Amino acid sequence: MAGAETRGDTKPHIVFLGPPNAGKGTQAMRLAATLGIPAISTGDMLRAAVAQGSELGQRVQSVMDAGQLVSDELMAELVTDRLQQDDARDGWLLDGYPRTRPQAETLVGILADASLDLDHVLLLDCPDDVLKDRAAKRAREQGRTDDDPAVVAERLRVYREQTAPLVEYYEAQGLVRRIDGDQSIDEVSEAVLAAVRGDS
Ligand code: AMP
Repeated sequence: MAGAETRGDTKPHIVFLGPPNAGKGTQAMRLAATLGIPAISTGDMLRAAVAQGSELGQRVQSVMDAGQLVSDELMAELVTDRLQQDDARDGWLLDGYPRTRPQAETLVGILADASLDLDHVLLLDCPDDVLKDRAAKRAREQGRTDDDPAVVAERLRVYREQTAPLVEYYEAQGLVRRIDGDQSIDEVSEAVLAAVRGDS
């Protein structure tokens, strides 16, 4: 854990990047549990708001159902609030944020305000055909409305267009660790842990 070690006992601040259905959610929860930090999934937060029928939920539902991105302004508010909560005081893992360059800039501001550095950007990637097969399976098993094939294709397009460029942005800062998501869940978990510990 190179970044964390240089700051004494502070736990790491990690961003998880990757296309929809790469397995980010599962791996983020596993890694966060291992490291004792919260896994903060913006997708889960938004889905909870939709399920509650809150004002936020009503505003974002149609955008999510179409596989598009919620506005950067709304996301900035959501993430800024969430990262101020008590459990996020010592390390966190962000799953699903940032997804655009303006969101990455917002995160720079949040980190600067708290005098923190990002320690790792983990990129979990998979070939598109694997992602689409997994989405079809998840749609059958979990009934997530945005796993409908047309929506999956749109989410993937949006990812490649708006989020994938963040890989270069973070690569220029030497933060990116690539992990092959086309392996078993346990193999991916091992690779994720090795990446964070700096042995890959
Ligand atoms: P996820 O579970 O991360 O795939 O997110 C599900 C949906 O929530 C996405 O398709 C977007 O509509 C929305 N969403 C989640 N995170 C963000 C974000 N950082 N920026 C914009 N929209 C987001």
